[in-house]
Amino acid sequence: MKCHNCNKAMKRRTDLKFNKHTVKGWKCSCGEEYFDSEDAQRILLLNKLKNKGFELKLNRVKSNLILRIPKEVGKAMGLNEKDIVHFSMKNDKEIVIKT
Ligand SMILES: [Zn+2]
Repeated sequence: MKCHNCNKAMKRRTDLKFNKHTVKGWKCSCGEEYFDSEDAQRILLLNKLKNKGFELKLNRVKSNLILRIPKEVGKAMGLNEKDIVHFSMKNDKEIVIKT
């Protein structure tokens, strides 16, 4: 990857800051930065969905209630099948799920 600003070779980095999040990308000694587009898109999606409420319908599998996380939320949070999340009941009206 060459810098469009000074034409030097850019270094691959995994610690660039984009909207207060850490993303992968390239950085030049002149200070120019290019963000990995997949990482940047995920952060933009995260900012778009952050604090948005979702109405989710519960389903049942045998005796357990199943909650489906919307596709875009999983994508924005980088969640995948078989990932472990932490679930707790705040009270009888609120659930907290932490990744
Ligand atoms: Zn440069």
